[in-house]
Amino acid sequence: MKKEKELYSGKAKSVYTTEDPDKLVLLFRDDTSAFDGRKIDQLARKGMINNKVNAFIMTQLERAGIITHFDRLLSDDESLVKRLEMLPIECVVRNVSAGSLCRRLGVEEGLDLNPPTFEFFLKNDELHDPMINEYHIRAFGWADDDDISVMKRLTFEINDVLKQLFFEAGILLVDYKLEFGRYHGQLVLGDEFTPDGCRLWDVETREKLDKDRFRQGLGGVIEAYEEVARRLGVTLD
Ligand code: ADP
Ligand code: UDP
Repeated sequence: MKKEKELYSGKAKSVYTTEDPDKLVLLFRDDTSAFDGRKIDQLARKGMINNKVNAFIMTQLERAGIITHFDRLLSDDESLVKRLEMLPIECVVRNVSAGSLCRRLGVEEGLDLNPPTFEFFLKNDELHDPMINEYHIRAFGWADDDDISVMKRLTFEINDVLKQLFFEAGILLVDYKLEFGRYHGQLVLGDEFTPDGCRLWDVETREKLDKDRFRQGLGGVIEAYEEVARRLGVTLD
């Protein structure tokens, strides 16, 4: 399937139309950003690694019965996906405290969260993706009651599948962000699941294997992403 017109170019991916109005090409670029685009770099191989890790995770989720936008890999850094009408909402689940939760609530990093927490954020870089709740979502029409319950249900189902999958690879799934969109009336998991959008720690040492290495200037970002791929059994080259 060939790319036609660039529909959108985000911070890490570009989105193209195809000859099929129901399908898009996602191009995973090497661009890496943090702090709402204020820290930017190019990390060679990141696009390829994320494309392949995302394909693997989306396929595992489909096997577990969760409908995703993923269709197939097209090349090292491109995937074919269903064209969704994205909701402007990010769903974040946390199994362990880290990141903005610690900054917001003054709690230390690394506390087990049992039960896991669920948070909604508005997808808006200019406003720094503010936290919102279900009342904001309903009042401003970003989604309806059904969408809210489907997003919560799917996000927790995904947690059960992925916590186990990563644990078997010696990795703790600390937290992650998901985005959903509508496909012919049905809410479907979109965007990506890669070390750019989640926190992954080594189970034994708690070494960070995700984008926090970039955010915090720890170095070894690509090596960590490659390690995640290797442990999951994702073939890269
Ligand atoms: P951002 O927009 O946050 O900078 P990206 O660089 O990852 O993020 O850009 C990818 C964009 O594509 C995001 O805005 C995401 O919501 C959107 N997107 C992801 N999957 C789909 C899809 N299946 N259909 C339509 N849009 C999608
Ligand atoms: N996240 C993301 N995109 C965003 C915001 C958050 O992928 O725009 C991911 C982030 O990588 C982490 C989880 O969502 O895995 C929770 O992020 P948090 O709220 O702690 O914000 P951060 O500390 O990353 O600013």
